[in-house]
Amino acid sequence: MSSSPRVVVVGASIGGVTAAETLRQEGFDGEIVLIGDERHRPYQRPPLSKQILLGEWEPDQAEIHTALQSAELDIDVRSSCAATGLDVAARIVQTSQGELPYDELIIATGSEPRRHPLLPMALTLRTIDDAMVLRDGLRSARRVGVIGAGVLGSEIASAARKYGADTLLVGRSASLSFGGVGTLLSSRLTRLHEANGVELALSAEIVGAEPTRDGTSTSLSR
Ligand SMILES: Cc1cc2nc3c(=O)[nH]c(=O)nc-3n(C[C@H](O)[C@H](O)[C@H](O)COP(=O)(O)OP(=O)(O)OC[C@H]3O[C@@H](n4cnc5c(N)ncnc54)[C@H](O)[C@@H]3O)c2cc1C
Repeated sequence: MSSSPRVVVVGASIGGVTAAETLRQEGFDGEIVLIGDERHRPYQRPPLSKQILLGEWEPDQAEIHTALQSAELDIDVRSSCAATGLDVAARIVQTSQGELPYDELIIATGSEPRRHPLLPMALTLRTIDDAMVLRDGLRSARRVGVIGAGVLGSEIASAARKYGADTLLVGRSASLSFGGVGTLLSSRLTRLHEANGVELALSAEIVGAEPTRDGTSTSLSR
């Protein structure tokens, strides 16, 4: 271990980057190594379901920092580097690129989409790569089903309509669900979806799914 203390941050997204940045802002002058298992430099996720899905931005426009900004902050960013194990007693993170000793460790590994048990092959949207696959799919899709009537589901359904697909948005709750925002926004967005031609299936669940020649046929509980 070098004399300069080393902080390793696992998870190179907004949480990890903000932690690393804050250490510098607070005057930490030791080594900061930020590792992430994705192959891209750290990027923001909000544009994935907006500008990128709509084809207005390309992936590099979502980067949180350019390589130059990371260098200026003296943050060693390592992409395609997955943490695979942790030896707390020895203060070592095992990674896909070798062992990484640390003085302090920050774990900011975020969350992953939940898959529907009947539709394990359905696309999900979390990463830049997911967004590019989904964007390509939406450009040629005739009919799109979106499961999950929260913010992301609504954004994806809007994008599908923009590309011209017949779009069904399915949600288990009785109204579009936006966390703490409440029913006013929910009913306005319901009207907006209807005006844009998004078909809503609320209080509904997928109860069956069958592969077809060119997609999947699903049945709903309602
Ligand atoms: C499409 C989309 C749109 C969104 N839009 C909005 C919005 O408009 N407004 C808003 O407030 N929020 C939005 N969010 C939510 C917001 O992006 C998340 O709250 C935020 O990304 C959480 O940041 P995080 O750093 O905690 O975790 P994450 O962004 O989940 O990042 C965790 C990172 O850790 C990596 N990782 C996991 N395990 C390992 C490992 N073992 N080794 C190395 N790396 C690992 C992951 O691959 C990932 O890159 C959106 C999310 C998505 C997916």
